[in-house]
Amino acid sequence: MAAIFVSIPRAFRGYLCPPLSVRRFSKRADENRSLAGKVAVVTGSTRGIGFAIARRLAQDGAHVVVSSRKQENVDEAVTILKEEGLSVTGTMCHVGKAEDRQNLVTTALKHSGGIDFLVCVAGVNPLVGSTLGASEQIWDKILDVNVKSPALLLSKVLPYMENRGGGSVVLVSSGVAYVPVPKLGVYNTSKTALLGLSKSLAVELAPKGIRVNCLVPGIIKTDFSLREKTMPNMLPDMNKIFGVQRLGEPEECAGLVSFLCSSDASYITGENIMVAGFSSKL
Ligand code: NAP
Repeated sequence: MAAIFVSIPRAFRGYLCPPLSVRRFSKRADENRSLAGKVAVVTGSTRGIGFAIARRLAQDGAHVVVSSRKQENVDEAVTILKEEGLSVTGTMCHVGKAEDRQNLVTTALKHSGGIDFLVCVAGVNPLVGSTLGASEQIWDKILDVNVKSPALLLSKVLPYMENRGGGSVVLVSSGVAYVPVPKLGVYNTSKTALLGLSKSLAVELAPKGIRVNCLVPGIIKTDFSLREKTMPNMLPDMNKIFGVQRLGEPEECAGLVSFLCSSDASYITGENIMVAGFSSKL
């Protein structure tokens, strides 16, 4: 039998069994991807920075649960990513609503009974105007969605991360946390609070093997920044001072998040890392 096989010209061997060898090779490639076998939950991930992060985590081997407030946006994002051959599911989740947060966790557990990564991208800014003129409802909305929801969602995810023996959490702040944009005072404040939240959670969860870091984007080209006219308008001034040449792309935020989730970042926690073309902070 072996002799027969040897007698087949080398060039033909591949033609005799391409599906098996291709399948074997791609299975091995899948297993070698940095996030293979892991489950990631990403909030606010149907467009912009969240969508780019969801795509990248899935490309790097994770099963990703996509979510946002509108079911039609979830369906569209899931369809796009599945057409790219990525392992994703999705569900509607307004991060400010307790029942939606629970539903997101339940959906994620359906894949393999565990959760390894939580990336909290969802954030809002319903106010352009004076900080002291902001109503109590505006304060509540911005702080509920931007600051409280990552902590409340993580509290639901925590037991499942502990069951897996550890995990990685990435919060999403903003450069306005360091350099406040006038008229975005409440939003600036919420994003500064996230820097503190990532530090506090990092020390609290380190004994459980859970790392918590924070992505701090500069001005990234998304619906959010283009709608908020103040931010792109800052670019000429920033150019004058720092030489930053352009707005960032959502994909330029995604690689860092994948790295922070991977075992390559196993000794990194409590870091607030800017992706902004340049950062003046020490
Ligand atoms: P974006 O393009 O407007 O996308 C926002 C995403 O979040 C969408 O998928 C949206 O989908 C979802 N979303 C909005 N409110 C939500 C809520 N309450 N619960 C769950 N999902 C919600 O925004 P982006 O620019 O990618 O911003 C993402 C994050 O990055 C935000 O936290 C923002 O503060 C931060 N950031 C952005 C920039 C920038 O320049 N773009 C800079 C620094 C920081 P639905 O409409 O279906 O809910």
